[in-house]
Amino acid sequence: MATRVPHLINGAWRHDAGSAPFPVTDPTSNQPLWEVASASADEINQAVASAKQAFQAWREVPVPERARLMLRYQHLLKQHHDELGALVAQETGKTIADAKGDVWRGIEVAEQAANVAALMMGETVENVARGVDTHSWVQPLGVCVGITPFNFPAMIPLWMFPMALACGNAFILKPSEQDPMTAVRLGELLLEAGAPKDILQIVHGRKEQVDQLITHPDVKAVSFVGSVPVGQHIYRTATDHMKRAQCFAGAKNHMVIMPDANPQQVVSQLVGASVGAAGQRCMAISVAVFVGNAREMIPALRDELAKVVPGHHSNAAAAYGPLISPQAKARVLKLIEAGKQEAECLLDGSDCMVPGYPDGNWVGPTLFRGVTAEMTIYKEEIFGPVLCCVEVESLDEALQLVNANPYGNGTSIFTRSGAAARKYQHEVEVGQVGINIPIPVPLPFFSFTGWKGSFYGDLHAYGKQGVRFYTETKTVTSRWPEDEIVETNMTISLK
Ligand code: NAD
Repeated sequence: MATRVPHLINGAWRHDAGSAPFPVTDPTSNQPLWEVASASADEINQAVASAKQAFQAWREVPVPERARLMLRYQHLLKQHHDELGALVAQETGKTIADAKGDVWRGIEVAEQAANVAALMMGETVENVARGVDTHSWVQPLGVCVGITPFNFPAMIPLWMFPMALACGNAFILKPSEQDPMTAVRLGELLLEAGAPKDILQIVHGRKEQVDQLITHPDVKAVSFVGSVPVGQHIYRTATDHMKRAQCFAGAKNHMVIMPDANPQQVVSQLVGASVGAAGQRCMAISVAVFVGNAREMIPALRDELAKVVPGHHSNAAAAYGPLISPQAKARVLKLIEAGKQEAECLLDGSDCMVPGYPDGNWVGPTLFRGVTAEMTIYKEEIFGPVLCCVEVESLDEALQLVNANPYGNGTSIFTRSGAAARKYQHEVEVGQVGINIPIPVPLPFFSFTGWKGSFYGDLHAYGKQGVRFYTETKTVTSRWPEDEIVETNMTISLK
């Protein structure tokens, strides 16, 4: 019998879930890895009730103690980095290097959470009026919920719960049903680090479980990372129920290549940024915008992409792994077919096979040229190893294209001109900008700052998914009449 992925409710790992289990499959073979069952309505209610109670005690735990838990957790995560990387590779099919990168980016956030005291500092102004002082405190919210996608099963849960917990909240994680075991291992390590048993709850499921969580009267805030339609549903539903909601959704990231850019650098960086992780990154470059003569780099780009070979994570030479599911592969193949009707296909990865893994969800590197903003392959987030080349005549035209796009997660410009780089970083309407860096993800002491349809809600916070999202600011204005001071004589005896 397949291993059942447990829920973590009220400090106990539970296997007795209500509904029929469904399989979690290995994307390199589509063979079952384990099975998972959605939490019942009763189990969700228990998780929320337990988290609510845990919050009352946890919020009173001194900040340095909460920070120390994060230090121990960060240490344990590092000790288990290889093991966690192997688990991520098993569930997602990512290469080991990619899977370990996923874990490492999460460890960095746990590290940042250990600095929580400094991040939670309030503000003070003395004498806001004569004899009147004001100070503000930063206080936790209560029960916070996180809904996470399949593509970074370690990093994205770790974006959320370490910071939320360090701030003094209780947290309920609903990880992706496509790779839920990584979250379970993250939870086990948190308990091993000495966390109170009930400040983190993990429940599995899909829409029904998510909807129950985001409408529950005792839930205060919802962080979501995932696709566009689900993000919109979650944002609308959660805010309708007066929750604080923060949504990271889809993306279409452009890299602008100026004619003066270093061609070798452009080609090698663009290959990794577009098809690395099979294009299943919200910061992947999916559109290359060649300005003027920069278009002469396209043949070399095609030749380099043609050399990229996906494979199983046990093969150290594999450049990337499979798509997460047969459904994801079918969707990407359909978009490639649409692209072939619309644009010039320079490289077609539709028939990709990996020896020894005939049933994996493989798609080879795919390159289109002559793509315009009206085409389906430009408008849709493909989320596969597919790169679209657009050709424009000027930097202004490139900026117009990028700024008209409904998403604004990441972008980059490759150029040797300081003036072009300055103009691009200043005028582009995208949250994370790279100059000669293709995937400009900031470290956790900066905000993750997607714009437009890629990141919305409450709040473009300070520090990744930051402290400001998981806390409430309270303003206290105080007056202390001087004539009420009682003088006391104290004798201090020294031995
Ligand atoms: P998804 O939207 O299918 O699933 C995300 C989560 O929502 C999962 O936990 C899932 O169980 C839940 N869910 C699915 N359907 C639901 C519904 N109808 N109602 C309520 N909950 C539902 O996303 P995915 O396929 O797992 O992840 C890929 C997507 O995530 C891509 O669009 C990618 O761009 C996006 N993403 C964005 C960022 C970012 O920072 N902007 C980061 C990573 C991934």
